[in-house]
Amino acid sequence: MKSHEIRQSFTDFFAERGHRPVKSAPLVPHGDPTLLFVNAGMVPFKGYFTGDEEPPTRRAVSVQKCLRVSGKHNDLENVGPSARHHTFFEMLGNFSFGDYFKAEAIDFAWELVTGVWGLDPSILFATVFRDDDEAHALWRKVSGLPEDRVLRCGEKDNFWAMGDTGPCGPCSEIFVDTDPGAPRVGWEEGGDSGRYLEIWNLVFMQFDRAADGSMKPLPKPSVDTGAGLERVSAVLQGVASNYDTDLFVPVLAAAAELAGTRYGAGAESDVSLRVIADHLRSVGFLLADGVIPGNEGRGYVLRRILRRAVRHGMRLGFEEPFLHRLLPVLGEVMDAAYPELAATRAASQATVRTEEEKFLSTVATGARQVQEEIEAARAAGGDTLAGEVVFRLYDTYGLPLEVIREIAEEERVGVDEGGFEAALERQREQSRAATDTGQKRLAGLRDALRGDGELPETAFAGYRSLELDGAEVLRLARFRGDDAVARATAIASGDSGIAVLDRTVFYAEGGGQVGDVGTLRWDGGHGRVTDTRKDAAGTVFHFVTVEEGSLSQGATVSLAVDAERRRAIQRNHTATHLLHAALRAELGEGVRQAGSLVAPDRLRFDFTYPHPVDPEALARIEAQVNAWVLAATPTEIDVRSYPEAVAAGAMALFGEKYGDEVRTVAVPGVSLELCGGCHVANTGEIGLVLIASERGVASGVRRIEAVTGEGAYHRVREERELLERVASAAGVPVERAAGEVAALRGQLKDAEKELSRLRVELVAGGAGAAGGAGGGASDDGAVEVDGVRVLTREVPAAPNNELRNMADVLRGKLGSGVVVIGTRDEAEGKVTLLAAVTDDLVGRVKAGALVKELAPLVGGGGGGRADFAQAGGRKPGKLPAALAAVPAAVRAQLAAVS
Ligand code: ATP
Ligand code: MG
Repeated sequence: MKSHEIRQSFTDFFAERGHRPVKSAPLVPHGDPTLLFVNAGMVPFKGYFTGDEEPPTRRAVSVQKCLRVSGKHNDLENVGPSARHHTFFEMLGNFSFGDYFKAEAIDFAWELVTGVWGLDPSILFATVFRDDDEAHALWRKVSGLPEDRVLRCGEKDNFWAMGDTGPCGPCSEIFVDTDPGAPRVGWEEGGDSGRYLEIWNLVFMQFDRAADGSMKPLPKPSVDTGAGLERVSAVLQGVASNYDTDLFVPVLAAAAELAGTRYGAGAESDVSLRVIADHLRSVGFLLADGVIPGNEGRGYVLRRILRRAVRHGMRLGFEEPFLHRLLPVLGEVMDAAYPELAATRAASQATVRTEEEKFLSTVATGARQVQEEIEAARAAGGDTLAGEVVFRLYDTYGLPLEVIREIAEEERVGVDEGGFEAALERQREQSRAATDTGQKRLAGLRDALRGDGELPETAFAGYRSLELDGAEVLRLARFRGDDAVARATAIASGDSGIAVLDRTVFYAEGGGQVGDVGTLRWDGGHGRVTDTRKDAAGTVFHFVTVEEGSLSQGATVSLAVDAERRRAIQRNHTATHLLHAALRAELGEGVRQAGSLVAPDRLRFDFTYPHPVDPEALARIEAQVNAWVLAATPTEIDVRSYPEAVAAGAMALFGEKYGDEVRTVAVPGVSLELCGGCHVANTGEIGLVLIASERGVASGVRRIEAVTGEGAYHRVREERELLERVASAAGVPVERAAGEVAALRGQLKDAEKELSRLRVELVAGGAGAAGGAGGGASDDGAVEVDGVRVLTREVPAAPNNELRNMADVLRGKLGSGVVVIGTRDEAEGKVTLLAAVTDDLVGRVKAGALVKELAPLVGGGGGGRADFAQAGGRKPGKLPAALAAVPAAVRAQLAAVS
């Protein structure tokens, strides 16, 4: 049976038995902050098991994408050596939400395994939890397996829990003896050697475990099962390892071919090939589900997996990026079942390639640094890399610990990993403290404001209207200098604080949109709202400065949001949605939002894309957005259930938590997004959208900034004025400004060249020596010093290259001799001396030694080659004296060699 037939047979079997087929959820759990990745088939149904959500059906069947690389279920280190553990795998599962329980679950599983899949009962085992007599009896009855093949196991293997908290219960597993001809061995031995292979786990979900470890019986016992597609395929295809199934063979073959080897050529290279084949799947699926390589959270896990694959590639001899080239091969195996792979492939390939390139160069640079540190440690008599040193290598060069460890092993020095962990933890602590302050501040506000009663969620009435009368002040707090706040019953004139109202039209910062500002009025006073924030519970905090009167708890207030500012925000927000749609239309569906800021004066949109957007594409994107603006389409805003919204094609942001009811913002025919922000009623209000910049902000993430409406108008006006000023400075009409400026620049360059030539000529041809000691001056101003012609001259200030030129030309004119020129800038307090010696004399007079001797006279230092040298000094007044000292210095040098 091919793996795709196994998927189908599993789904069909349970569908025929009343189970609703459910599509695999993305690897990133929706609305579950406790879990980085979906790690079992039951995760998307968690709420049904705990009773928090009402299941739409009592029976379901799925083939769920799973990742076990972090947290409670982490098989990362196993991958490579193990024939049956992957980071990414597919879990076949059937589920009962308070419907059937142990009897049917065991019945179904046995029928599928032996009936449909045709496995011989004599090679099968079942296990049950130690105390689960019921399951034990059922297995004996349903399967007819003998007593010694229905085993009782302990908590470690037969009590399943998704995490430290949540649904859990006793379970029952089906094992296959993969070597039935051999004499039977003990359970432990068979498990450790991999001979007894677990293929399917039936979890009888009976409890909900709380954070304190206590277990509450679930309202309705349920069933959750999981069978690994890869393991089932290996068994049904009669091969010894998951890697020999049709799910892996093409990828392994392609990787081996690129590496110039063969899968099976050697134990070590096989491990590396397996790691690459396995990690390729994780990388491909994570990217397809919107995860971006990064330095924290999910992005960091992705980056680590990708780098681990690259390191194994390096062991196979790859020196160039290779992993991205394997993604199409993964597609050959998986595209049919998972169309998201094909849809995102181009973008994924580019991202992987960039990551690979970066990592390869990191390792190259880093490896040299590690080598240096090892040498330094040895020089100091040590044989271990200190934790701090390892941390520095890790932190500054981005070198993974594994790479450092590997190099150290090769060099036979130790690594202080404890010290490294400690340094890492210190740094984490610091950054945690920094990022926490924002949320903590809000949490602090909440505590300060709560007092005795709870703080309710604030009703928001500000989508369409910007004014509201008759709101009630529920709570107040006053700022007391620094950052501290204290609960108060009133805020006096001139003071600032926080007001919580029963309802508001002020939008609290969220979804990228900044908080509103405006005014509060009450009987006898008014105040300014300078910012609006909201905490996780939905209570809105108005930051208020009282301008007149005193604002008291219980007062009735009238609210007015600054309308112009808010309208500008709305234009930018709707424009952001249009931009998002245009980016996807132009650059492909692989583009995903990675962050945004919607402010009154601009919008900022971050999205996943592996390289700069080329200027022509950017121009087309801008044109498309403006075409949608000009179409003047009314926006449509609805509130509906989450599944309905997604079914309608709404773009949800990965990792965002959405409630049951979600708000959708549509520009019909163009864009449909889940969004809680404020928008224009008609796209025509946006007026004009101008993209101001496009640049990279992180690996695989680009940022576009744009302006709209009045902001765009101002920008156009400013640019027009600027252009007029340029034209008027150039003395031509605007249309001719560009040509004129180019022409002027050309002329200027020619003139500078000519000027430089003339200066050099002037100096070279000019008369008048500055020095005159010993012998008579000739025409060119040179003097004779013991038969050597010496020319000294002060020259006008000029750029350095021109000074060199002058010295050169003078030396050429002398034919044989020594030239020393100097120049000074009194205002800057600077002197420059240059010495040049003709080739025939360099054996007797050294330019370098000459300036070294002269430089102190002008308060500086310098040196250089024998034929040419330069020095600088800080005493312009001493230049003549220094030049006058040249002949004596030359004489001394000549005397020294003769
Ligand atoms: P094992 O003990 O072999 O690691 P497990 O007890 O962790 O397995 P479960 O959590 O019960 O496995 O998951 C259910 C099924 O999913 C297993 O029976 C197996 O077929 C499959 N499975 C679990 N982990 C992996 C993995 N890392 N790679 C591939 N398949 C897996
Ligand atoms: Mg496991």
